[in-house]
Amino acid sequence: MSVVSKLIVVLLTIISLLIVPACAPAEQSAGTDRIGVAVSILPQQEFVTAVGGDRVSVTVMVPPGASPHTYEVTPAQMAQLSKAKMYAKVGSPIEFEIAWLEKLIAQNRDMLVVDCSKGIKLIESTDEHEPGIDPHIWTSLRNVKIMVNNICAGLVQIDPASRQYYETNRDDYVARLNALDSDISASLKSVNNRTFIVYHPAWGYFAHDYGLKQVAIEEGGKEPQAAYMTRIIKQARDQNIKVVFVSPEFSSRNAEVVASEIGGRVVVISSLAVNYLENMEEVVKAFKEALQ
Ligand SMILES: [Zn+2]
Repeated sequence: MSVVSKLIVVLLTIISLLIVPACAPAEQSAGTDRIGVAVSILPQQEFVTAVGGDRVSVTVMVPPGASPHTYEVTPAQMAQLSKAKMYAKVGSPIEFEIAWLEKLIAQNRDMLVVDCSKGIKLIESTDEHEPGIDPHIWTSLRNVKIMVNNICAGLVQIDPASRQYYETNRDDYVARLNALDSDISASLKSVNNRTFIVYHPAWGYFAHDYGLKQVAIEEGGKEPQAAYMTRIIKQARDQNIKVVFVSPEFSSRNAEVVASEIGGRVVVISSLAVNYLENMEEVVKAFKEALQ
């Protein structure tokens, strides 16, 4: 960031601080006793809201369109954390939390930090160029059940009087996750092709749940080299793959190259949508169509 743009950010922050007090009373009356919960990524907003209902107010750190592998927190977001009672971290080794979580917690030492990944079996990344743990735990509905359970335990700890309310909400949401999980198992059981190509490898846990194989174009988190692209194209031709999945947060240029080489098409699916369950239904339709 240049000196000039830094100055602009500072000025905008000062202006926003001057403006906020004027609107504060209205905001306060709307949610005086709501529990402030901060989360890292958008799908977690649905998880927290599903359990906490109208007793929580959720703040998401990585905004729509941004990547949790590269996003940098703004000063205004840092300031918001002073009001939070709980931070629900993803807890898998995702770059955003590795880089920022300590600084975020330092803003508010009284926040209860809940690890959504507690009890989840982490799996290796399918990226042969960058071995390590795959951080995208939330693309598995089975993992989300555990994440929601951890969120529920955190809310009960902060607000034990509402235990019944949170647990009933949790059970309702888990029932919806179970129903969709069964639908997906049934729907993907009979597909012809079990290998899919994706630009950014966000779907490892999803693939693991339903016996699919993810092949990523991205090479070690970076744009791929020509030789690797050639290998992917050959594999796609050999296995008669006709779809290349891309995420809205990443460039699709190389995905388009692969798609045109195999006479296929690029299909956008998001792993970071705020409407998690609804989005997963769309994702499954896209997978079913691509794997026929
Ligand atoms: Zn990712």
